[in-house]
This record gives sequence, structure tokens and C-alpha cells, in this order.
Amino acid sequence: MNKFYTNIQWTDATWNIARGCTKVDADCKFCYMHRDSMNGTRFNPRIVVQTKEAINKPTKIATPSRIFASSLTDVYHEHCDAFRHKMWDIIRKHNHHTYQLLTKRPERIIQQTPPDILKMNNVWFGTSVGSNQGVHRIKDLLQVNCQLRFISFEPLHEDLILNLTPSELSMIHWVIIGGESGNETGLYRYRPCEHQWIENLVTLFKPTAAVFVKQMGTHLYKSHKMSDRHGGEISEFPIQLQIRDFPTPDIGFKVNPSPLVTSALTVPGVPAITGSTALTAGPSQVLSSGVNGSNQSSSSSSVSQGGIITP
Ligand code: SF4
Repeated sequence: MNKFYTNIQWTDATWNIARGCTKVDADCKFCYMHRDSMNGTRFNPRIVVQTKEAINKPTKIATPSRIFASSLTDVYHEHCDAFRHKMWDIIRKHNHHTYQLLTKRPERIIQQTPPDILKMNNVWFGTSVGSNQGVHRIKDLLQVNCQLRFISFEPLHEDLILNLTPSELSMIHWVIIGGESGNETGLYRYRPCEHQWIENLVTLFKPTAAVFVKQMGTHLYKSHKMSDRHGGEISEFPIQLQIRDFPTPDIGFKVNPSPLVTSALTVPGVPAITGSTALTAGPSQVLSSGVNGSNQSSSSSSVSQGGIITP
């Protein structure tokens, strides 16, 4: 397996500028970072510590890739303020990648993001909404004057009432939808998700945005005897939910794309992504990852508390 691989279907690599976070609302209840940190590691999931080597990850990926920041923290957490500038520097210097910044703190994006980063069409800004309690985050995201906005409706654990106007809908370029994964008992369980809730979102967004249905979640995996324990096998989805699109100039992403990078960049001594995760075109083209599985890969970093994570 390539060392940059992630089994999150909608990205190619995760990029953690830090590890640790504090919960925002019920959508964070069963956060996998908190769960995994409790699982025999010496991380305190509530303390945000910056990474040392992992922050350089994009510099080591030669092939233009979709890079998700961050899977083990919230990049707009206030405790990232002191070192987030390092992330911007890397994004500027390694702009052959597409950066997917996902936060539950979208109200901080405008104040905490340099204007030149907001203008880059290979930097996508997203927020997560899993229940009606988190719907207000969409309004905050819509205030951000950026090139591409996306919403991750995962873990979807409620039928959502969004009340978005046509104008607001047109400002959302990509949505990801997924039910919750988890255990039957214990501290980290799953909450039910229903096909109809997913379909409601697909129906709402498909006319104007790219839609990516990631997984059905553990509840539907069990009730429908699916093969993947996260309900992530797309061939087992109801036919109308078998959709995994990425933003392109034709769907969702309406702005002019960056000049395409048509050949893989090479860095001496650094292996390029190959196989099904290899990308052959620039950030704004249709790219099918072909990545199977749905579970979040955990970092293998070790940490000195209050200090820096050392991969
Ligand atoms: S914002 Fe994200 S990383 Fe932070 S606690 Fe919530 S789910 Fe976990």
C-alpha cells in the first residue's frame, strides 16, 4: 500500500497539521479521533498539538492529489491559530494539489484565512453537518468568498431541514453524504441513518452541485446485510444513491479551472502515488479515485504532549 494512501473515498491523502480537538456539538459525539485516541494511544484527544513531520506531507507527494486537511483535528480550531500559517505556506508552494479544508468552525474561516488563499481555486472550503443542530454552519460557510464550497453531511443522523434558497443552493458546489459508522455498545456507537434522509439530500443538491454518496453507515449495513461494515460498497446502495461525483467545471465547480498539470511532478527520492489513486490531471478535472473501503485511517504518529507530534 502506498504510504500516502487513505481509504476515505472522496480524497487521496489526509494531511494533519495537528492532532487533537474539542467537540462542537452532537455531530462530534462519536468523533473517531477521540475514539481512536482512547484506544491504547498516549494522545489526549482534547489537547491540540501541532505535527512536526506530518505537516510536510504535501511536499512529499509528487502527483497532483486531493488532500484532506485535517482528519485528526479541526484546522480552524483556535489552538491551531499559532501555526496555521505553515499550512498556508505549504499550500502556496505546492499548488499542484487540491486542498480540501473541512471544518466545524466555518465562522472562523474569513478571519483566519489569508485573502490569496481564499482566491485559489484548488483550495476548497467545507463544513460538516450531521443534524439540524449543525445546519447553521451552512450559513457561515456561505459567507466565505471563496472559489469552491462543500458540505460533508456525515455522520448523517437526522433528517435535515435546510431551508436554503435557490441562490444559496447555487453557492454550494459539492456535497458528501454518509451514515455513521460505529459499535453497537460502548462509548463510540453509531446512530441510525435512513435511505430516505440520504435521498432527500441527493434530490436537493443534484441539480446544482456535485454529489458524492460515501456510505450508508452501520445501521443500514446491518439492516440490509451489506458486505462492508460501514455500508460503503456502492454497488449495494439503492440505485438512485449510486452517485460519487467530484466538482468539475461542468458540475458544481463553476469557475475557470487552474492550468492543468498534465504530467506527474517528480521529487527525487519520493515515490509518486500509483495505481487506482494516481491522478493524471489537474485539480479541477473529473477524477475517479477507485478507492474502496470507508474507514478513516488513523495516523501512526506518536506525540509528546503539549508539544509536537512525531510521525
Ligand atoms: S470538530 Fe471534528 S475533529 Fe473536532 S471533535 Fe468534532 S468531529 Fe472530532
